Amino acid sequence: MSDSRALAIEYLKQQRLLGGDSVILPGGWADGQTGRPEHDAAAAEPAPAVPPMRPSAHPPAGISFDPPSGDLFANDPIQRTASLEDIATLIAACRKCKLCEGRTNTVPGEGPATARLVVIGEGPGRTEDETGRPFVGRAGELLTKILEAIKLPRDQVYICNIVKCRPPENRLPQYDEIAACLPFLYRQLELVKPKVILAMGGTAAQSLLSTKQSLGSLRNQVHRFRGIPVVVTYHPAALLRNPNWKRPTWDDVRIAARLLDN
Ligand code: SF4
Repeated sequence: MSDSRALAIEYLKQQRLLGGDSVILPGGWADGQTGRPEHDAAAAEPAPAVPPMRPSAHPPAGISFDPPSGDLFANDPIQRTASLEDIATLIAACRKCKLCEGRTNTVPGEGPATARLVVIGEGPGRTEDETGRPFVGRAGELLTKILEAIKLPRDQVYICNIVKCRPPENRLPQYDEIAACLPFLYRQLELVKPKVILAMGGTAAQSLLSTKQSLGSLRNQVHRFRGIPVVVTYHPAALLRNPNWKRPTWDDVRIAARLLDN
C-alpha cells in the first residue's frame, strides 16, 4: 500500500473518531480490498445466498402490514341492504337514537323503488306515528294536491323523512338524532336513484345539503346531492299555517317539474 493511501486511511479514521460521516469510496480499492483485514477476508469468500422472504402467518401485534381488502363498509348492515323493504326492516328494529323510546311505529317511507321524484320531509307527526306512513293527515293531503298539480300521482313518488321515528311533541329532530338516522335515507336514495329530490322544510333541506342556511336562502334554486338535483321548498304543514307561502312553493315545485321533464 502506498504512503498516500496509508495517510488517507489514517485521515478517514480520525474523521470517523471525530464524528464525521461515513465515506464510501467509488469502486473500492484498486486491489479489491477495503483496507480492513476483517472485510478483506470476508470479501474473498462467495457471498451467502439471501434466504427467500416468507410472509409471516402472525404479524407482530399492533402492526398492520396491509390495508383491509375489499369495501370498508362491507359489514355495514345498511350498506348490505338490497331493497327498500330491507331498509324498512332495519329501521323497524333500530334503536340508534332516543327517538325509538317514544315511537308507536317507525315510518321508513313509501313509494316505488323506480320513483323519479323523492320527496323528503322532516319527521313523522302524530298521524304518521300511528299509521307508520309518511305525509298523512292534512299536510299529506296537501302534498298529494301539490304533486297532482304537476301531473305526478302520489303513488309514483317515493316519500320519506329525515328521521324515521316521531320526535316527542313534534319538536325538531336534534342533531344527534339526524346524524344517527341519515344513513337510512342515504341508502334509500342510493337504491331509488331519483332524477330529482324535493326537500320540504328547513330541517330536510339543511340535513340533506349539510348546511345551516335558511330555507328562504336555499329555495328558488337547484342544489345537488351526490349529483342529483335538489329543489328546496316549504313543508306542507307550514303552508297550512301560512297560506302566503303557497305561491313560492308552487314556483319551487314547478322547478322540480321542469327538471323531471328534461
Ligand atoms: S329516528 Fe332513526 S336512528 Fe333514531 S331510532 Fe328511529 S330509525 Fe333509529
